[in-house]
Amino acid sequence: MLTDMQIVVMGGDARQLEIIKKLAELDAKIYLAGFEQLEQPFSGAVKERLHDLNFSNIDAIILPVPGTSLEGEVETIFSSEKIVLTEEILQQTPSYCTVYSGISNQYLDNIIKKSKRKLINLFERDDVAIYNSIPTVEGTIMMAIQNTDITIHQSSIAVLGLGRVGMSVARTFSLLGAKVKVGARKSKHIARITEMGLQPFYLNDLGNEVNDIDICINTVPYPIVNAAVIAQMPSHTLIIDLASKPGGTDFRYAEKRGIKALLAPGLPGIVAPKTAGQILANVLSQLLGEELESRKGK
Ligand code: NAP
Repeated sequence: MLTDMQIVVMGGDARQLEIIKKLAELDAKIYLAGFEQLEQPFSGAVKERLHDLNFSNIDAIILPVPGTSLEGEVETIFSSEKIVLTEEILQQTPSYCTVYSGISNQYLDNIIKKSKRKLINLFERDDVAIYNSIPTVEGTIMMAIQNTDITIHQSSIAVLGLGRVGMSVARTFSLLGAKVKVGARKSKHIARITEMGLQPFYLNDLGNEVNDIDICINTVPYPIVNAAVIAQMPSHTLIIDLASKPGGTDFRYAEKRGIKALLAPGLPGIVAPKTAGQILANVLSQLLGEELESRKGK
């Protein structure tokens, strides 16, 4: 239980509703900033304007998955209020206050450092990334179906990267009957791809591996699907780039060559916001519980 914990949930989208629901069930006292248009009531959660909030007893601040903009603004779909997380706000919190975000940026890192508070980026955790790969794969399947006129079954697919997303993508498309080859740069990944029964190749040989593919799914956040690689692809190839913005594809060249290339960020929040929210809610409740226990123990 999170009884006695005071938590500010600052902005967000539908995923945040699952977090609020779970933390309210665990008896935390929740303040919602940037939610005035939310009609659904949550017992134990009160809506407040950011400037009316008293941060002096707040144990945790929960930001949406993207964290803040480079100007500190926090996105919210439930409010027209401009929500900005500032160093001054963090300074008002007790020294043990922890900020939870999906990812961070220079602005957020900077105010955390200056205010000497703790930041936890949930998307850096393997468990979150692996659970999140499930709705990501489902979104990728949706995009492949929507943007091709062939079945996934029997199609030739190159998956780039064997990280947490790449592994789930490669396995699932293979289970759907596609002929899947996977590119990686480490020999241990080549070994794993072989063990999975898929066709491995080294990424530095990418240009020679794409001349027979129907779909290229990139998970590498580095510009590897460059003009030289795209030039080798059949003209019907669909590129689905899952890597975080700006992706790893030369979109300008793909367009010039008439190859459809789609940057597909944030698929879990689009195709399964409830599941994506529950993934975060489960990890957050565990982390907050551990935090409370360790503070009680001191
Ligand atoms: P990850 O586990 O870190 O995997 C990244 C993969 O890229 C690894 O195989 C890594 O190989 C490879 N890689 C990184 N830099 C490389 C380079 N310079 N050259 C060659 N290979 C390189 O990350 P992940 O959790 O799978 O996520 C992959 C990307 O998808 C991230 O950008 C993430 O933000 C994004 N993502 C997008 C969605 C969406 O909805 N579109 C959802 C979840 C995640 P090594 O092990 O050799 O470094």
